[in-house]
Amino acid sequence: MSEPTNKKDNMMYPSRRSFLGAGSAAIAAAAIAALPAHGQSRQNVDKAEHDHSVSNPGQENQNLLAQNPNSNTPPPSDFGDVGPIWYSFDLVKKRIQEGGWTHQVTQREFPTSTEIAGVNMRLTAGSYREMHWHTADEWAYMLYGNARVTVLNPDGTIFIDDVSEGDLWVFPAGYPHSIQGLGPDGCEFLLVFNQGAFSEDNTFLLSEWVAHTPTDVLKKNFGLPESELQKLPTGSLYIFPSDLPKSLAEDKAQVGGRKVESTPQYTFKMRSMEPTKKTAGGEVRVVDSSNFPTSKHIAAGLVIVKPGAMRELHWHPNASEWQFYIKGKARMTVFMPVGNARTMDYNANDVGFVPAVAGHYVENTGDTDLVFLEMFATDRFMDISLNSWIRRTPVETVSAHLNLDAETIAKIPAEKQEVIR
Ligand code: MN
Ligand code: MN
Repeated sequence: MSEPTNKKDNMMYPSRRSFLGAGSAAIAAAAIAALPAHGQSRQNVDKAEHDHSVSNPGQENQNLLAQNPNSNTPPPSDFGDVGPIWYSFDLVKKRIQEGGWTHQVTQREFPTSTEIAGVNMRLTAGSYREMHWHTADEWAYMLYGNARVTVLNPDGTIFIDDVSEGDLWVFPAGYPHSIQGLGPDGCEFLLVFNQGAFSEDNTFLLSEWVAHTPTDVLKKNFGLPESELQKLPTGSLYIFPSDLPKSLAEDKAQVGGRKVESTPQYTFKMRSMEPTKKTAGGEVRVVDSSNFPTSKHIAAGLVIVKPGAMRELHWHPNASEWQFYIKGKARMTVFMPVGNARTMDYNANDVGFVPAVAGHYVENTGDTDLVFLEMFATDRFMDISLNSWIRRTPVETVSAHLNLDAETIAKIPAEKQEVIR
């Protein structure tokens, strides 16, 4: 198939699947009539998707097909390859230990996601994610329950706080921290790291460091007798059960009170903040370095899209987008040069990926609110609205491109809405 050579060709939608190209003689003839240069028109593909062309006499994985109708029968506007844009936490191995579990979607599952990796973790009441640190920044969103987090600053001050569903935390790269599930039923959270190849199985653990340091060095460092050092763990703890902690105030007082308290704040109440943008179609809450100065390397949006509405056509000029779907049903099409587009469906626990600067929308395809997170490995949340680009460009210019008259163009919303209905 030849590349589109002019404006008229670009307005057509050539066949993007060989089996459609080999459809009935009538369709092929119609295609030639409609589009002499190459391929099939949108109309022809539309027809093919509702006739015998889509018959599939062989085997099918019905469960997968039902989850992804837009992949099985793509909109006629889909074409070519944009790379992977969908994965799910329900496809990756769970590491289960007494006290909880973890699993991750990283560059190993999502080869094009070089900037961000994600982890989903559960801790039962009292259980710890062991004291540790790592080379990436950590951004987290609480999905369920309650947790206590601690993080130490290089100046020796400590931050201790409790978080609940809808709260987030940020731990800078290299800063040591801990997470403990609280009552009544522990917690579950999403972790995001600004390294695509990050692995939650490859962090610096307190238990492993003491297990791999000579006893006489530990004796000198801690100033403790050897009899006490015999009690230290000899292998990794990672996730393990324990007792519920004292109250937050008691814990803070016990470590030294106000004089050792961290000035920087590492937690933020994202879900309960005022929406950054609220429209008839839904709400967007943006947390980045502008309203949460601690979050220097990861920016995020919590998006609620009402039934029938969608996150408008847009792109992000400064980063790729890593999405986590919390509730509802969606479909997203990602547009890439040259004329490539892919549509996929998303359900709760799925991960979406949009390459940097690629155009996309996210449409609520269900009958309940769609709730998802968009994360970027950058200090500022930035997006560009197709609508506002069209309306801020002189109308003659837009008219020359889109063949729409000024009156029609004036009907397109001029302001960025984020979520549109
Ligand atoms: Mn961590
Ligand atoms: Mn986006």
